[in-house]
Amino acid sequence: MTAIPFDGHAVLPATREFLAGPHRLLIGGRWVDGQDGETLATQDPATGLEIARVALGGAADIDAAVAAARQAFHGPWSRLGHPGRAALLAALARKVAEHAALFTELEIVDNGMPRFIAGLTVSNVVEMLDYYAGAAWRIEGTTTTPPHHVAAVAEALTYTVREPVGVAGLIVPWNVPISTAVLKLAPALAAGCTVVVKPSELTPLSILLLGRLAMEAGFPEGVINIVNGLGRTAGAALAAHPGVDKVSFTGSTATGRAIVHAATGNLKKVSLELGGKSPVVVMPDADLRLAVPGVAMATFFLQGQNCMAGTRIFVHESIHDALLQGLVEFSRGMVLGHGLDPATMQGPLISEAHGAKVLGAIERALAEGATLACGGQRLARPGCFVPPTIFTGCRPGMAVVREEIFGPVMAIQRFATEDVDAIAALANDSDYGLSGSVWTQSLATAHKLVARIRSGQVSVNCHGAIGTNIPFGGYKQSGWGREFGHDALEAFLETKAVTLRL
Ligand code: NAD
Repeated sequence: MTAIPFDGHAVLPATREFLAGPHRLLIGGRWVDGQDGETLATQDPATGLEIARVALGGAADIDAAVAAARQAFHGPWSRLGHPGRAALLAALARKVAEHAALFTELEIVDNGMPRFIAGLTVSNVVEMLDYYAGAAWRIEGTTTTPPHHVAAVAEALTYTVREPVGVAGLIVPWNVPISTAVLKLAPALAAGCTVVVKPSELTPLSILLLGRLAMEAGFPEGVINIVNGLGRTAGAALAAHPGVDKVSFTGSTATGRAIVHAATGNLKKVSLELGGKSPVVVMPDADLRLAVPGVAMATFFLQGQNCMAGTRIFVHESIHDALLQGLVEFSRGMVLGHGLDPATMQGPLISEAHGAKVLGAIERALAEGATLACGGQRLARPGCFVPPTIFTGCRPGMAVVREEIFGPVMAIQRFATEDVDAIAALANDSDYGLSGSVWTQSLATAHKLVARIRSGQVSVNCHGAIGTNIPFGGYKQSGWGREFGHDALEAFLETKAVTLRL
C-alpha cells in the first residue's frame, strides 16, 4: 500500500487501510461494482491528490437499489416494529462512536474540513442516531370524533396511525457529508422507511463506512442502499424513479428545482434543504467582544461552504469601523492549512472548480465597486485555499450581496437607522431565508428583529445555532420542510385515518 502524502501529516493505520478500499456500491446487502464498471477518483482537497477510487453507479444501479429497498420495505423491515428499529439505530450509534477517529479523518481528507469541525460532526452523528432511536418509540397517532354520518347510526371509533412513506431517496451534498446523510437516514429509518442514499461524488467515503457499519450492526439487507454516482446520472435517476416515494435533498437551489421537476412523474413527496445568503444584523449596542468572533465565524466557519453562513452583514454606522477593524484582525489571525493539523481553523475549498467560482465572485465584487478589506487571493500552494475575504461598501443590488458564493466571502453594508422595520427590510431583501443573526444587548430590539426576519432560523448574539432536537430549514427559496427534531421524522411519515363502525 503506497502511503498518500497528506501535506506531511500522519493518518491512523485504520484510515490508510480504509482508503486502500475497495469502495463499492451497497445494494441489497451486498457490495457490488457499478453495472457499467466505471470508477471515480476522490481527492484530498488540500493537496489535490487522489486518495481513493470509488465504484460509480448509474441509472441501472439505482433501479437495482430501489428494487432492493422496496423488497426490504415490505419484508423484514416492516415486521421489525419500533423496538427493533430503535435497537438497530442505537447499535449503529455505538459503532460510529467506536470508529469516531476514523470517521473524523475520512471527513478531513475527503472534504478538507478542519479537525475541530470534523470531530464535532462525528459526535453529532452519534447523537442523531441515538435521538432517532428514541424518537422511533414516540411515533403516535391520535383519536378523534367519528364522522357524523357514521356516529348518527352506530357507535364508532376514529383514530389515526402513522405509517412510513415508503422507499426514500436521500441525496446528499459534499459540505458536511456524514452529518447530512445521517440527518436524513436516521429519521427515515426510525419512521420505518427503507433508503437509497446518493452521496456527493466529491465526498463518498464516510457514507460508505457508515454502510459497512450498518451491515455489521445487523440492519436487514436492502434497508440501507448506497449508490455513489454523479448528480446528472445516479442523482437524476433517483429523483425521477417511479419506485421512490419520497426524496429528501440537500444541495443547491438550482439542483433543488431540477429535483422538483423530476419528482412530478409519480408526484413523490419532496423535502428540500437548499442554499442561503443569511443576514447578520449588528446593532449600535452590540457587544463587540462577542460580535467580532461571532460575525467572523458566521461567514468563515467551514471555509464558508456552509448553507447557514451569515454572509450579508448589516452594521449600524456608529460601530461600523470598530467592527470592521476587529473582523479584519480576527480574519488575518485565522490559520489556514491541512485539516489534519490541529491548529487549522480554515481548510481548502472542496475543488479547483468550486474555487474558480469563488474567486470569480471575488473578481466580480471588485468590478462592481465593493472595497476589499482583507483576503481576496488564493494562497500559492496546492489545494484552493482562499483566506477570509471581507468586502465593505456593498450595496443591495451587487452580486456579492445577492448570490450564494459558498466560500469565505463577507459582504458588509452599513445602515444609519434604528427603525426595526427598515432594518428588517434590508435583511429580508434576498431570495433566501435559511438562517440569520442579530447582535444587540437590548432584549426588546432582539425580539422585534427576530419577529421580522423571514428565515427558518434566527439566533441572537450567536449564529447558526443548530441542534439535533431543533427544527432547521428554509423560508423562501431556501427549501421545503424541516430537518432535525421531530419535524424530520414527520417528513418520512404518512397519516392514515381509520373509522370503525362498531
Ligand atoms: P449540488 O446541488 O450540486 O449537489 C447536491 C447533491 O445533488 C449531490 O449529491 C449531487 O450529485 C446531486 N445532484 C446534482 N445534480 C442533480 C440532479 N440533477 N438530480 C439529482 N441529484 C443531483 O450541491 P453541492 O454543491 O453538493 O452543495 C452545495 C449546496 O448545498 C449549496 O448551495 C448549499 O447552500 C447547499 N446546502 C444546503 C444545506 C441546507 O441544509 N439548507 C446544507 C448543506 C448544503
